[in-house]
Order: sequence, then structure tokens, then C-alpha cells
Amino acid sequence: MTLGKDWAIAWIDGCIEMASEHRVELIELDRAIGDGDHGENLDRGFSAVKTKLADAQPSNAGDVLKLVATTLMSTVGGASGPLLGTAFLRASKEVTAENLGPRDIVAMLEAGLAGIQARGKADEGEKTMVDAWAPAVRAAEKAASDGLAPQAVLRAAADAAQAGAVATGPLKATKGRASYLGERSIGHRDPGATSSAYFLEAAAQAAEK
Ligand code: ADP
Ligand code: MG
Ligand code: MG
Repeated sequence: MTLGKDWAIAWIDGCIEMASEHRVELIELDRAIGDGDHGENLDRGFSAVKTKLADAQPSNAGDVLKLVATTLMSTVGGASGPLLGTAFLRASKEVTAENLGPRDIVAMLEAGLAGIQARGKADEGEKTMVDAWAPAVRAAEKAASDGLAPQAVLRAAADAAQAGAVATGPLKATKGRASYLGERSIGHRDPGATSSAYFLEAAAQAAEK
């Protein structure tokens, strides 16, 4: 499909499914190095998004992402609500065109990452969702520079996010709740990096439809 409003709606429908499908897995990851609520937080947030989206009349992809942002901010407790909310809010400003190109996708992902970092002050390697988003942005950037289509840019980003999430396993957490565990956070994947990889996978899958 051409990437615009319909893609954004399909993406967010995918996020709603991802949050529900991986709820228990994300709870278990967060139980290991946090307080065990990540899957619940996200599922609650995206359930609220589902309700709001059903009544909304978005005119472009940006409107869709903005609705997600405000809903996550108001319904997801914990660190991940404001962080993802800021990511979607910043990202929403980059995707108001009707037919999004590869550079729009890169700009959207860059803005999302910048939002997370503005809010959470984490750098790459601190075992947070930044470890999914930062490699995703780099891969998207490379794919766009190689002249690939926006669908392929999203696919590259999603695959890099997944690899980044897996790579959080051996890291020691130095930001967020998991940092309280110090060395004991080593050996567990970060829940937020894992969920962000799922959300970016949903973006790629929606574009491949
Ligand atoms: P809480 O930790 O408040 O219970 P969640 O469990 O919903 O919130 O989210 C935890 C996730 O939030 C972590 O796995 C991590 O990816 C992310 N996170 C926490 N602090 C930060 C931060 N400062 N910057 C980026 N991401 C963070
Ligand atoms: Mg938690
Ligand atoms: Mg919590």
C-alpha cells in the first residue's frame, strides 16, 4: 500500500494486537528486572487507543499517531507511558503528508527516538527501549540512503529493532527501574526494548499488506 492514513491505522491495529498477544510475555520480562506491569500497562493503553480510534476521524497518519500519543500518556502508568507517548507525539509531526516516502519514515523514526531521549535521558547501551529505537533509526537511514522504498525502510527498521531488543540481554541496566538491580539485571531482555520492537514490527507488517 502507499503509506498514509490507512497505513497508520493498520499499524496501530497491529500495535493493539501486539500488546494483547504479548501481554504475558512482557509481564514476565518486567517481572524479572522491574515490577511486572509492562505488559499490563501497554495492553491497557492500547485497549484505550482501540476505543478512541473507533470514534476518531483522522485526516492523515499524523492525526492517528497523535491520538495514540495522547491516549498512551493518559492511560499508561509507569515509565513507558510518557516515553512512548512522547515518541508517538514527536513522530506524528513528521507524517502529515498523504503519500509518505522513505525520508518521511526516517524522519518519523528519528523524531520518535529523539522524543524518548528528551524525556528519559537514556543513551544507547543502558538497557532501555532506546536500544531498540536507535538501531532502527540507523537501519532506516541506511535503507533510505540506499534508495529503498518506504516499506523496505520500515522492514529494515523493524529487523534492527528486534536485533537490538535481543542484544539488551547481556547489558547491565543503568536507567529506569531495572537499574536498581545493577548486575542482577544482566541476562534478561529489557521489556521496553522488546515491546518497541513489536510496535516497529507492526509498522513494517502494515506497510507490507
Ligand atoms: P515502570 O518501570 O514504571 O513500571 P514499564 O514497566 O511500563 O514502567 O516500562 C519499563 C520500560 O521503560 C523499561 O523496560 C525500559 O525499556 C523503559 N524505560 C525506563 N526508563 C527509561 C528511560 N529513562 N529511557 C528510556 N526507556 C526507559
Ligand atoms: Mg514495570
Ligand atoms: Mg510500574
